[in-house]
Amino acid sequence: MPTRRDAVTIVGASLAGLWAAETLRREGFEGRISLVGDEPHAPYDRPPLSKKYLAGAVGRDRVDLLGPDKVAELDLDLRLGCRATGLDVAGHVLEVDGVAEPFDGLVIATGARCRTLPGTDGVAGVHVLRTVDDADAIAAALPAEGRDGARRVVVVGAGFIGAEVASTAVDAGAEVTMVEALDEPFGRVLGAEMGAVLADLHRSHGVDLRTGVGVDEVLVDGTGDERRVTGLCLADGTELAADLVVVGIGVVPNVEWLEGSGLTVDGGVVCDETCLAAPDVVAAGDVARWTNPRYGESVRVEHWDNAVQQGAHAARRLLATDEEAEPFAPVPWFWSDQYDRKLQLAGRAHPDDEVRVVTGSTDEFRFVAFYGRDGRFGGVLGMNRPRHLMQAKALLDDGASWDDALALAADWE
Ligand code: FAD
Ligand code: NAP
Repeated sequence: MPTRRDAVTIVGASLAGLWAAETLRREGFEGRISLVGDEPHAPYDRPPLSKKYLAGAVGRDRVDLLGPDKVAELDLDLRLGCRATGLDVAGHVLEVDGVAEPFDGLVIATGARCRTLPGTDGVAGVHVLRTVDDADAIAAALPAEGRDGARRVVVVGAGFIGAEVASTAVDAGAEVTMVEALDEPFGRVLGAEMGAVLADLHRSHGVDLRTGVGVDEVLVDGTGDERRVTGLCLADGTELAADLVVVGIGVVPNVEWLEGSGLTVDGGVVCDETCLAAPDVVAAGDVARWTNPRYGESVRVEHWDNAVQQGAHAARRLLATDEEAEPFAPVPWFWSDQYDRKLQLAGRAHPDDEVRVVTGSTDEFRFVAFYGRDGRFGGVLGMNRPRHLMQAKALLDDGASWDDALALAADWE
């Protein structure tokens, strides 16, 4: 356990890493904190990148998380454009750009990167969306005032990136086609019934949604560095013309640099219930896999609130003794803005759960639905119902039953 004056290195200068740094200082840690990030930018918030920032409705000032004042206030050794390239857990040595550095405590917060479609590397007009540079490139290609931009936009994957980019592109005036391999958008996250509501939402805004079909080939004009996308060929033989393709087919955790480190890496950095990956080493955010004791399952959560809470928890864990350490047992929670709708899910939605709309109407895209089974209340989905959503989340936090949840909803009518 690092003492008050030792040195802690945080790898990954983004949401989880920054919250870890802030929490260390809040908890009275007085030693050196190095925040090491491989992006050239100081930490920034990703949610606006697919929404208001992509639409040009807010600027960089609304995205940046760490200005010079805060760097000074937190007394951070901020090292941008630096990549962790190796780790020796037993020796307490980190390698940054090939140079060995000792540490007393280490926070791993290297997040995740986008999966790509094979054969699209270097093809102009095909984008993923993870970084502010990705967002700037897509924004520059979308239609905007005084500029035509891409008219035909194809979004591959109807997950979070796909749905949010489709919504922003429609609002910008593009014709949008969204291609999803599953039968419904968000099928794995929300189940079939609520996935179908999301499909209706997108279709009601004019999106040409193609489900149950993958992409066979990316169609390209030109050769070498001059290649530019012209469309996609789907697995059912359909050809879609495209000026701009945005690929949102999930992420992979950034763990390759940990090979041979002595840590257990299995689809993420494996931690115990308290976020400890090894003595004096913790992990947080999109990269961390741990068993949430609330559910008894090993999970990796790829949402904003988890990065914030787990970044803070991991920092406290680093400063705690084994006896003081507490498990990290949150009720997961996220939001997604699509068109003028705010979607929020708290808890978990299993595909075989009972789903009951307890207030509002799915036809009007304004409702609350409960998920549960065997008398247990497992999750709540809200569309444009933030107050009710938070009331139901409080019940989930308390481990309330299905009947307790229905009693709460009865008061909403
Ligand atoms: P990341 O944000 O991925 O940061 C990890 C950092 O580590 C990156 O800067 C990376 O470059 C760096 N790194 C990686 N490897 C190394 C290395 N070897 N050395 C040094 N640095 C390294 N969630 C919601 O709940 N609601 C939303 O509306 C929402 N919208 C989103 C919109 C977009 C476009 C995206 C991309 C994500 C969105 N999310 C949203 C998810 C949320 O932003 C992520 O869960 C969160 O960013 C995870 O934070 P993190 O710090 O764990 O990882
Ligand atoms: P995602 O939410 O995992 O969705 C990817 C979707 O694409 C899945 O439905 C996936 O189906 C499908 N898919 C995979 N391969 C495909 C293919 N070849 N053709 C067509 N569809 C395919 O991932 P994402 O949307 O790319 O988001 C990336 C990350 O950013 C995630 O971590 C996400 O949580 C985060 N993010 C979050 C928010 C938010 O919380 N509001 C917003 C934006 C981004 P399978 O499940 O079958 O693979």
